[in-house]
Amino acid sequence: MTEQPDSQHILIVGGGMTGGLLAVLLAEQGLTVTVLDGAPAPALPQGKAQLRVSTLTEASHWLLRNTGVWDYLDASRVQPYSAMQVWDQDGTGEVLFQAEDVGAESLGWLLENGHLAAALYQKAATLPTLDWQCGVQVDALRRDADTGQWAVRSGDTLWQADLLVGADGARSQVREQAGISGGPRDSGHHALVATIATEQAHGACARQVFMESGPLALLPLFSDAEQGDQRQCSIVWSGWPERIAELREKDAVSFAAELQAAVGDALGPVTLLSERAVFPIQERHASQYVAAGLALVGDAAHVIHPLAGQGVNLGLLDAAVLAEEIARASEQGRGCADPAALARYQRRRRGENLLMQNAMRGFQSLFEQRAMPVRWLRNTGMRWVNQAGPVKGFFARQAMGRTTDLPARAKPPAFGARAGSR
Ligand SMILES: Cc1cc2nc3c(=O)[nH]c(=O)nc-3n(C[C@H](O)[C@H](O)[C@H](O)COP(=O)(O)OP(=O)(O)OC[C@H]3O[C@@H](n4cnc5c(N)ncnc54)[C@H](O)[C@@H]3O)c2cc1C
Repeated sequence: MTEQPDSQHILIVGGGMTGGLLAVLLAEQGLTVTVLDGAPAPALPQGKAQLRVSTLTEASHWLLRNTGVWDYLDASRVQPYSAMQVWDQDGTGEVLFQAEDVGAESLGWLLENGHLAAALYQKAATLPTLDWQCGVQVDALRRDADTGQWAVRSGDTLWQADLLVGADGARSQVREQAGISGGPRDSGHHALVATIATEQAHGACARQVFMESGPLALLPLFSDAEQGDQRQCSIVWSGWPERIAELREKDAVSFAAELQAAVGDALGPVTLLSERAVFPIQERHASQYVAAGLALVGDAAHVIHPLAGQGVNLGLLDAAVLAEEIARASEQGRGCADPAALARYQRRRRGENLLMQNAMRGFQSLFEQRAMPVRWLRNTGMRWVNQAGPVKGFFARQAMGRTTDLPARAKPPAFGARAGSR
């Protein structure tokens, strides 16, 4: 067995969007960081849109801008959206959120997951204390009770770390091997994702229709030369497994017809452009985010229903808060695995993530209700929210990630420091 010559300070298992951002934030502080990821090195996408995309909130956008990661994105593949329309298929309730209502230019941004991973990887290459190793699948880990260090193994190679971070997604090996319980709980939904072309321009508006069988989101994608300006959307259609399996089996024309029937006339006739991929939605929540010398971030700590597009945004905030707490500990002369810093991280993130997970469960069950009084109430509620400016503003700010305990790096820089940013 070969032992790595340098004992690394911080070792992150998983270089997805969450692990990648955490690595950048820690290396910016001058800390020595190693990222191990089982997948090949991510490359900037070209041509057709990738199937897996994410909506990013304002807070996530500022995190990426403030770290310079945003500069590595291909601007022509990032789609901002300035409106969000949510309606109930089973009634007259509708809410239209607009960026101008909350004094912003955009409510969010849509981009491909692989695109963001590639930008993080490129930014990482500029940071001298960050070593990002691809194609390294971690098999085992163990903590040495005498030294307090974690030993992580992949095949015949061993790494040691003062702080081990699990950013290895929903099926986290780090979480499991550290003995932290984390679900899963079946949400009762599967999600189908695909790319479609629309006859009408999407108008930089994200749309979501709630149906009895589950929500359907149409997310505005970047303009593609073949499809024309603003005529590509990504869809996330969640629902009961039998219904989603039926949708996946349909031929492309019947699927497009079903889709259009569900959405109505907003975008005109639609055409399926891609394969249809289906993901079972299994919620998870780690019983604890930290242990001695160990922290979990992103999907390794929590997996929520994608209906409000918040999963990765919560993960990026986990990364920023953990990095902020480690920086605070360092300033006070304490190590990167300082138990007080880890406890503060858990306190600041776990409650907030749980709240979001519960809110998603609440929305899911509210819109599944067929009982007339509930349908009347939710439609009346939506119409009321739509007319009540301050309440609508509150919901819009939550969706944008404007929460009370934002880490400093997730906020716009002080006035004056913004000049020159794009
Ligand atoms: C259909 C769908 C739509 C979604 N839409 C949105 C959205 O619009 N907005 C949003 O915010 N969220 C969305 N989400 C959620 C979002 O995709 C996840 O929250 C996000 O991908 C989590 O990122 P992560 O970096 O924590 O984990 P992952 O993306 O799972 O990354 C984990 C990384 O760890 C690596 N890894 C795993 N195990 C090992 C190992 N043993 N050794 C080494 N490396 C390992 C993997 O290769 C991977 O790179 C959606 C989810 C689904 C299912």
